[in-house]
Amino acid sequence: MSQTRPLACYVSDLFREHDPGRHPERPARIDAVMQAVRAVRAPVEEAGAASQDDLERVHPPAFLAAIRELCEAGGGAIDLDTVVSERSYDAAVTASGAATAAVDAVLAGDLGAAFCLGRPPGHHAEAARAMGFCLVNHAAVAVAHARAAGVDRVAVLDWDAHHGNGTQAIFWDDPAVLYVSLHQYPFYPGTGSRAERGGGAGEGTTVNIPLTAGASEREFTDAFESEALPALGGFDPDLLIVSAGFDAHRDDPLCDLGLSSAAFGDLTRTVRGIGAGPVLILEGGYDLTALYESVSEVLAALG
Ligand SMILES: [Zn+2]
Repeated sequence: MSQTRPLACYVSDLFREHDPGRHPERPARIDAVMQAVRAVRAPVEEAGAASQDDLERVHPPAFLAAIRELCEAGGGAIDLDTVVSERSYDAAVTASGAATAAVDAVLAGDLGAAFCLGRPPGHHAEAARAMGFCLVNHAAVAVAHARAAGVDRVAVLDWDAHHGNGTQAIFWDDPAVLYVSLHQYPFYPGTGSRAERGGGAGEGTTVNIPLTAGASEREFTDAFESEALPALGGFDPDLLIVSAGFDAHRDDPLCDLGLSSAAFGDLTRTVRGIGAGPVLILEGGYDLTALYESVSEVLAALG
């Protein structure tokens, strides 16, 4: 009988090669998370690129081709925040490939949990729009991959300090996918009010939990326990994906929420057992020490 390994981290050298220039979402973030991986001796798996089929379940082929061609031409700015270099497309589709491989390993029972340590992040990317440092929506690609593999119900918990407008939009009217987000609000990207609850057959399967700037760790974890956990438990997903950003950390330079590094470990422990996984996907987090400490706490909680 094959044994289930508790945890693997999906990594790639490509994740350092997405170079947006002078930018908070910088290659040194990967050095910080890899330092955490080594510190706790977490097992690693080498990620490969997502298949074109997997990417096209979420993103139109012409959108993907436009980013690839911009990178092949040497890179450039998509908007003020979102800049690509020569290897950015390869890095992005490999971050998505990490997520689909992690889903496969968790569904097969080979892994109890997985952490995909890629960049650029993904949750702001809409089906046909790159924005907010994000090119390809890895959480959405992972969900669509799982659904295509026959998984009935998938939940995405997004604890990044920004609202995941892309993931919300992609599954807005899909009753098989629950999207739950805690985020600073009002804030970039502007979406994420409580009134946004999904539409059509998906009404009620989008749950936004906005937090005001300056919210303390206690306010965050109270909202998590009183609103996010009941929503996740009530949906009873077969698989849990976590958009794991670390910019809700109290030391983050871009955001104004109050989590400690240890709080991320507590969140991780709390969601274990809600469906298969979790499969965590790195999103934001821009203070390198906070990122190192927080990822270490998450890995300890998973291992
Ligand atoms: Zn963020």
